Order: sequence, then C-alpha cells, then structure tokens
Amino acid sequence: MVLAASRVDAPAFWKEVAATPHGGAIATCIQCGTCTSSCPVEAHVPDFNVRRLVARVKLGLRDDVLSDPAIWTCTRCFACVARCPKHVEPGEIVEALRHLALREGRDGVGPRHARAFADSVRENGRIHESRVTIESIGVAGVVREGLLPVRMALHGKMPSLRRRPLETVAEVQALIAAAEESP
Ligand code: SF4
Ligand code: SF4
Repeated sequence: MVLAASRVDAPAFWKEVAATPHGGAIATCIQCGTCTSSCPVEAHVPDFNVRRLVARVKLGLRDDVLSDPAIWTCTRCFACVARCPKHVEPGEIVEALRHLALREGRDGVGPRHARAFADSVRENGRIHESRVTIESIGVAGVVREGLLPVRMALHGKMPSLRRRPLETVAEVQALIAAAEESP
C-alpha cells in the first residue's frame, strides 16, 4: 500500500531531484549498474547501492530514500560520476538527497554529523574532531565503540578535547558566507 502511494508520487520526487544543480540527467539513467560496480563504498556497506538509489528516486520512494542512513555513507569519490555512460552524475544525486534530508530537519547519525561538521568549521575554521564525534553519535555511541577510543589514545591518535580555532578563522567564515550568498 505504501509502495503504491509512493509510485503515484513518482514524477514529483523525480522532478524535485532533477531541479537540483546536478540532478538534471536523472531521467536518462538506463540502470546499467556501472556506478555501483565503480563504487568503493558498496563493498563495505552492502545497504548502499547507488544504482538502486537512482531507481528508488524514479519510483518516487521519497520518505524511504530520505530516511535511509545509507545515503550518508557516500564518500564523494565521484568514480560513479566519471564512469556513468549517460552522464547522470549519481554521486551528485546522492549529495542532492542529503541536502533535501537536511533541509527537512531529518535526524540520524548522518544528518547530525553533517551539521556538526559544518558548525565546527564555521566556528573554528577547521574540524574539532571530538566535538563532531560526540555530536554525531553521542557519548553513549562513543562508549559503544568500546576499546577503540582507548586504543586511539594509546597510539597518540585521540582527538584533542580542547577547541583550537585557526588564527585565520575570520577568513574561513568570510569564505563560507560568500559561498552561502552565491546562487
Ligand atoms: S552508471 Fe549511470 S546510467 Fe548506469 S545505472 Fe548508474 S546512474 Fe544509471
Ligand atoms: S561518489 Fe559516492 S556513490 Fe559515487 S562511487 Fe563514490 S562513494 Fe560511490
């Protein structure tokens, strides 16, 4: 029943994605699978399949797609963009889906990480790794990682808990402001 309702909505979601800066070619996808076979993430995250993701957008499975944690695992390597024979730019479509999810205030580790990452750069001019980690997965999530934080500390890899903004943070903030104002 849910699937049937989503199919009725297919043209709306497809057009919504097609209207994003790099989404215009989604209609030309031939489901050849070149993107998926080029994607380094799929080997590690079987739930992420970029060919199927494009198909789900075209089916109109809007809520299913935008609430899928797998869309946050794309590394933006753009191997799929380089190899797609129809110039669909599937990696850019994943990015567009993330923007839509953020704009709607969707929750989850992925959206929280994206917001914490952007806030950290805005405030410090660079990533404050401890803060981004804690805001993404919470203290409980860090505890769930078990011995990993301890092992990182023993190898001198533990991110500092102290915030150290760049001296040039004002320049970074000016760049962010300019990017946000550009069309
Ligand atoms: S490579 Fe391009 S045409 Fe082929 S399935 Fe992926 S997005 Fe579609
Ligand atoms: S850009 Fe994302 S979807 Fe495309 S190949 Fe790289 S990790 Fe996979």
